[in-house]
Amino acid sequence: MAELNLILLGPPGAGKGTQAERITEDFNLPYIATGNILRAAVAEGTPLGVKAKTFMDAGALVPDDVIIGVILERIASGDARDGFLLDGFPRTVPQAEALATEFEGLGRSLTAVLLIDVSDDEVVRRLSGRRVSAKTGRVYHIEFDPPKNEGVCDVDGSRLIQRDDDKPETIKKRLAVYHEQTEPLVAFYSELGILRRFDGARPPAEVHDHIRAQIATLRLEDRI
Ligand code: ADP
Ligand code: ADP
Repeated sequence: MAELNLILLGPPGAGKGTQAERITEDFNLPYIATGNILRAAVAEGTPLGVKAKTFMDAGALVPDDVIIGVILERIASGDARDGFLLDGFPRTVPQAEALATEFEGLGRSLTAVLLIDVSDDEVVRRLSGRRVSAKTGRVYHIEFDPPKNEGVCDVDGSRLIQRDDDKPETIKKRLAVYHEQTEPLVAFYSELGILRRFDGARPPAEVHDHIRAQIATLRLEDRI
């Protein structure tokens, strides 16, 4: 079977992590989330984490030369060799170009880039109400997707926290960074003919149905 090499694209708070949880299960794909990788590195105090922390706290992107090597290595590693779901990378045109060059060398190709579209107002609503379990990574929203018991994760009862960068001033900065540095990737992948757009304002189950149907179609087309 052909590789399923997928990228999730969209502003912070679009619902990428929420959808990733479902899609990775549907298609049994390894999930590579750069934000999670970086936050783990910060928590462990590794050299990567030390380099990344100040940028992340400020809502800025970690420099390309810090992140590109780490992610390309992860994609080349065992479990991602037959496919993956990438969330949070690429986030700049140089990152997308580095990925393209690497894939060309390996004879691999991207299956699709899944763009989840939402307005800036909705991003602010979502990120200010987002809560996450530091332990399981499960994402909640105090209004749109509350846990069964306030403040604790449904999966294992661990405490839910608000990410440092989900505070109002940092949210605005991250949105500006998205429009300036990441949004050009919409045109980049559109020109390659692999961009698929989804209305992220719909409820999570509906967004999921559309994405799953689209991937299933791509798979079918590939087999014919
Ligand atoms: P969200 O899912 O809310 O968009 P992430 O968890 O993906 O946010 O990312 C958190 C932070 O990690 C970003 O604000 C940025 O500082 C850093 N980061 C994540 N991915 C990248 C990347 N590909 N390039 C540079 N910085 C990144
Ligand atoms: P991203 O990974 O793109 O930053 P998340 O998946 O973490 O986004 O979602 C951001 C916040 O919005 C979370 O609190 C999540 O519960 C909530 N959320 C995600 N998808 C939807 C949706 N379709 N409708 C309403 N709220 C959503």
